[in-house]
Amino acid sequence: MSDIWIMRIGHRPERDKRVTTHVALSSRALGAKGIYVDTYDPVLEENIRSVVDRFGGDYSIKTGVSWKEAMKGFKGKVVHLTMYGQQVVDAIPKIPKDEDIMVIVGASKVPAEVYQRADFNVSVGNQPHSEIAALAIFLDRFTEGKALYEDRDGKIKIIPNERGKTVVNSE
Ligand code: SAM
Repeated sequence: MSDIWIMRIGHRPERDKRVTTHVALSSRALGAKGIYVDTYDPVLEENIRSVVDRFGGDYSIKTGVSWKEAMKGFKGKVVHLTMYGQQVVDAIPKIPKDEDIMVIVGASKVPAEVYQRADFNVSVGNQPHSEIAALAIFLDRFTEGKALYEDRDGKIKIIPNERGKTVVNSE
């Protein structure tokens, strides 16, 4: 499986703080390598880096990067998640697994240019819902759930427990 990058567009630091944080954390948990966010937001960067520092892995975050800038040096396929796109079940087999992908999710209205630039416009159902839900379902299907329990070699490790909480903390 090659690398998965996320591009979050339309981020408004005041309004979207929690949602964009969850876009980043969910994509990290589900196997993405990192996220670009179009609006500069140092607090968001710090929060995500703090989770990576404690829970491991090499997930990166860069804010203040427009989707056009993020696309510039990007060699793989661009997947835009939108309720108007082709069905996720039809799209997944067409998306190459041996190339990197950049998954674009919006916040408010997404510019028409993104639909044109994307190699795949993919819907996760044709109902409006959430970028977090759409991304999670897409990534879980694309990676066939393989990232969920991957060891990230973190300072904090959670050991599955049927009832209580088992945490190994080497900090
Ligand atoms: N009203 C906006 C528009 O027309 O572009 C969409 C706003 S929605 C709250 C935010 C983001 O969630 C969208 O840009 C899209 O990436 C994602 N999203 C929402 N529903 C989706 C669906 N059914 N399938 C795929 N992505 C979806």
